Amino acid sequence: MKVLKFGGTSVGSAQRMKDVAKLITSSRNIVVLSAMSGTTNSLVEISDYLYKKNPDGASEIINKLAIKYYEHAEELYSTAEYKQRAKELIAHHFDYIRTFTKDLFTLFEEKVVLAQGELISTGMMNLYLNESGVNSVLLPALDYMRTDKNAEPDPAYIKEKLKNLLQEHSDADLYITQGYICRNAYGEIDNLQRGGSDYTASLIGAAIHAEEIQIWTDIDGMHNNDPRFVEKTSPVRHLHFEEAAELAYFGAKILHPTCILPAKLNNIPVRLLNTMQPDAPGTLISNSTEKGKIKAVAAKDNITAIKIKSGRMLLATGFLRKVFEIFENYQTPIDMVTTSEVGVSCTIDNRKRLDEIVDDLKKYGTVTVDDDMVIVCVVGDLEWDNVGFEASIVNALKDIPVRMISYGGSNYNVSLLIKSGDKKRALQALSDHLFQN
Ligand code: ADP
Ligand code: ASP
Ligand code: MG
Repeated sequence: MKVLKFGGTSVGSAQRMKDVAKLITSSRNIVVLSAMSGTTNSLVEISDYLYKKNPDGASEIINKLAIKYYEHAEELYSTAEYKQRAKELIAHHFDYIRTFTKDLFTLFEEKVVLAQGELISTGMMNLYLNESGVNSVLLPALDYMRTDKNAEPDPAYIKEKLKNLLQEHSDADLYITQGYICRNAYGEIDNLQRGGSDYTASLIGAAIHAEEIQIWTDIDGMHNNDPRFVEKTSPVRHLHFEEAAELAYFGAKILHPTCILPAKLNNIPVRLLNTMQPDAPGTLISNSTEKGKIKAVAAKDNITAIKIKSGRMLLATGFLRKVFEIFENYQTPIDMVTTSEVGVSCTIDNRKRLDEIVDDLKKYGTVTVDDDMVIVCVVGDLEWDNVGFEASIVNALKDIPVRMISYGGSNYNVSLLIKSGDKKRALQALSDHLFQN
């Protein structure tokens, strides 16, 4: 069995849904769907209005979104019966969203509102398949996808519940399920963070020991640089799990940051494919490496660099521990670290507790903060005895001020910290120098 995940653009219109239906009906797989494109953003906007106690603002967006869905339904189904069933489904979810315009709105209600996008898209797709004579079955993600008290997925629970659900519907032609949404340790509706449908797919893949996990999106696989900022990027045909994980973590939006781990741990190949061009080979992510090859570049935005300088303290035993403990105390993960004899620089992407962190760090030295920075990450088979890759990277960036350089934490990446204003220029320079041919 395979797991096939289709992102927002892939199910973004009635025609796209019909195209997806053609791709999924040939065998008995599990299909994970995102919300139709733009929907989760609209649900976030609705929630913002409700937080701000502006029900009229929320209602305006709710009504616009609902109209869009009724139009999709009119186009998607061919029979009066299914048009009616779809309209009832849509009305049910939008009426539910409307109930939140009348009451207290908290984080809990927001999660419920955000979950409606995936519930509608999977419901509509399932009805379409049924109308076309396919015996597809909806697997409700809220019945098996669950996080624990640390907000991490609970693999044992997911595996057990999924197994039962699949057994219950063993005669189905096909399974459809929601990406992104889950329940938390308290049984409340929650989600796996924005872009989390990829994570749903890999968690399911791991739970059922799938033959393959396919992430279908709007581009022909992982490109060697971010196509939103760089001209003439091209698809990378093979990536090692570690390479893909680094790229996803450091900003390659095509993959959710944590979605590679479950696949890697279970050695399940991940294939990135293009719904608009289904015959293109895409990218295969597996356990094999291409010796000495630089594969791709990605960039992670909104990074803050913090430097602690203290000639007296650094070499003293326990200095680094004390510094890192401060970040731990404020539950702020560190992305990059560089050290010298007189100081240490760290980067974080979560500034919520920055003031407290800086206050505490001042006990140990002089603290400087640089915000609005970007981590540029060059990924490939970068074993330290493959000579020359560092020189090519540094040479490519010779005209760009670099605040930190980090290599040696893994054999798969070199990370550099630059100002956000230099990001586009740096990415283009790296593409021009590293992937000219
Ligand atoms: P989906 O809605 O299918 O999950 P996403 O928008 O999350 O799709 O991811 C696909 C997008 O990721 C592409 O359209 C592309 O703009 C962006 N992207 C960023 N970096 C890369 C990269 N290195 N390779 C391919 N796509 C990338
Ligand atoms: N619909 C969710 C989002 O837009 C999850 C996803 O698409 O992966 O973030
Ligand atoms: Mg995505």
